[in-house]
Amino acid sequence: MDDVWKILAGNLAAVALIVSIWTHLSYRFYQLPPKLRCVGLGGTMGLAAIASMLLSVRFDVGVIFDLRLAIIESAAVFGGPGAALITAIMAAGFRTYLGGAGVTPGLTAIVIVFVLGSALWFFAGRKPLSNAPSILSAAVLAGCLSIAVLVLLPQADFQRAVDQVGLPIVILNFATTAAIGFFLAYFRRFTLERDILYAALTQAPDYHYVKDLKHRFIVANLNVARHNGRARSSEMVGLTDYDLALKERAEHLMAVEADVMRTGQPLDHFEEFLTEEGKPPRWYSTSKVPLRNRQGDMVGLAGVTVDITEKKLLEQELRSSRNIMAQAMAEMSDGLAMFGPDGRIVFCNEQYRALFPKSAYARKEGSHITEIVRAAVRNGERQDLSIDLDEDSIQAAGQTLFINKDEVIPLTDGRWLSLRTRVTEDNHVLALVSDITAMKESELSLKNFAEQMKGLAETDALTGLANRRSFDDCLQREFEAAKQSGRPLSLLLIDVDRFKAYNDRYGHLAGDGCLKSVAGAIASAARRSGDITARFGGEEFAVLLPDTDCDKAVAIAETIRASIRDLSILHEGSEYGIVTASLGATVFTPNSRVGNPAELVARADLALYQAKDAGRDCVGFQRLAEERVKKPA
Ligand code: GH3
Ligand code: MG
Ligand code: MG
Repeated sequence: MDDVWKILAGNLAAVALIVSIWTHLSYRFYQLPPKLRCVGLGGTMGLAAIASMLLSVRFDVGVIFDLRLAIIESAAVFGGPGAALITAIMAAGFRTYLGGAGVTPGLTAIVIVFVLGSALWFFAGRKPLSNAPSILSAAVLAGCLSIAVLVLLPQADFQRAVDQVGLPIVILNFATTAAIGFFLAYFRRFTLERDILYAALTQAPDYHYVKDLKHRFIVANLNVARHNGRARSSEMVGLTDYDLALKERAEHLMAVEADVMRTGQPLDHFEEFLTEEGKPPRWYSTSKVPLRNRQGDMVGLAGVTVDITEKKLLEQELRSSRNIMAQAMAEMSDGLAMFGPDGRIVFCNEQYRALFPKSAYARKEGSHITEIVRAAVRNGERQDLSIDLDEDSIQAAGQTLFINKDEVIPLTDGRWLSLRTRVTEDNHVLALVSDITAMKESELSLKNFAEQMKGLAETDALTGLANRRSFDDCLQREFEAAKQSGRPLSLLLIDVDRFKAYNDRYGHLAGDGCLKSVAGAIASAARRSGDITARFGGEEFAVLLPDTDCDKAVAIAETIRASIRDLSILHEGSEYGIVTASLGATVFTPNSRVGNPAELVARADLALYQAKDAGRDCVGFQRLAEERVKKPA
């Protein structure tokens, strides 16, 4: 019985061949529904069982040994009871057809193996055994079953069968089950990977496809199929662009792809604006990469096309709003600069540069604020920044960029600029610069005018001395100051003698001229700083002498009197023949019992009357009442 090994090995080869044909077919028709797949496996295994029976070992007349039990068990544990049932029926049918003494035990063995195999299927969780231990266990079971079913033979045949074919039957049933199990498990894993890859490709968003060297679609996803008017991805397989696009477009696409495959250089994000009939035009971005096999030979290309219409429209919108911005910036009269969070200019308009001509070269995109400040400082552009400012101060000035502020910058060329800086939420800085020279000049002239007006309001128009209102203010102020400081404050009142008569004789205009001359004489006699000379009213004048005691006041009064006399203005209506004046003087000291400046004036007036009474052209003096000093008891 040496032939047993050969025959059963041949059996195994036939089984392997039939199973491999099945896997090949199922790969080809990979979209088969599970039930058909089950029927396919069952039928294939049935054929394998029949083939095995045809190549069986003839033991006795009507008794044959083959691998059908391993095949039926494999159908059950790797394909389920459905597949096993088909296999078992086919095997049983053929065994019955062969006939002979072994039919009954043969059929019984088929039923037993079918039942046990199906039970194993349920035991394994109703899914094919797929890992090595479970496949080997199933193989061991097949080996055991193949010898166990020999008990179905008559007692005498059993012992002989065990002796003659026992070992090869066990080993080859074991080998057959293991071979089928590992082969199917490997194939299942392989097809699973392929299914995942295929699903990933066909269900991917955008447009994905793979083409062979002849530009034929090998695989394309649903988007590509639908875009080309096909309902399923599989309908794209084998087509070229000539089948899908106009000749000219197809030629162009093929030329591009041929380039990719010839040079091996991918086409990277090639953008196209495509118009299709009845649809609004859209933008697409296409990339094509050459594909090589493991040996490095070019085998085709993979392409992906993305619809970038939305992105393009957004870009266009952004560009047009940028253009509007740029136009607005160019048209505006003010200078505008934007600094980034790093302190560098992001953009600035021409006006910004023109407003700072000496540092314009540094005011460009990318320049740092400290470079700009340094340029302005070193070129002596700004009055408020010394030309020899040290580096630390320049850095510190640069740091102030990130503070909201409104500044007025005086330039050394006489212009004034207003600089407004605002820090934005994302830490950029907007600087708006305006030339405010005209405004500043009118502000200055207004200020001068206001000062002039103030001067006029405080000056007597005829004599140029302070007027009465201004004098009253000064008196009040000096009175308070004297009270505070404890220093004496003297007051002189001056009245031109017989002035009515002067007017009457020489006329009012001459009278005015006389008053001017008298005012000049008074002003030049009381010229210490702090002395205040004023026209008190009519032909009366007042002189306020801070920090002046009674002796000094009388001396100054005498000087004034003499200087008026020295004018030698002819006055025939006066007993002296010339214009003279009488003076009343008084002095305020800390001891004076005086509550307000009016009392001081009244006292000086009294002194003036005293001088008039004394014959005019003289100085009268009135002391103020003093506080009684309480002597200690
Ligand atoms: P007495 O020596 O007592 O001071 O006599 P008087 O004539 O100077 O005094 P009186 O108060 O009677 O006269 C003052 C005159 O001064 C009257 C007024 O016509 C004249 N007068 C006052 N203000 C002006 C002025 O602005 N211009 C001229 N030309 N005369 C003035
Ligand atoms: Mg008078
Ligand atoms: Mg007078």
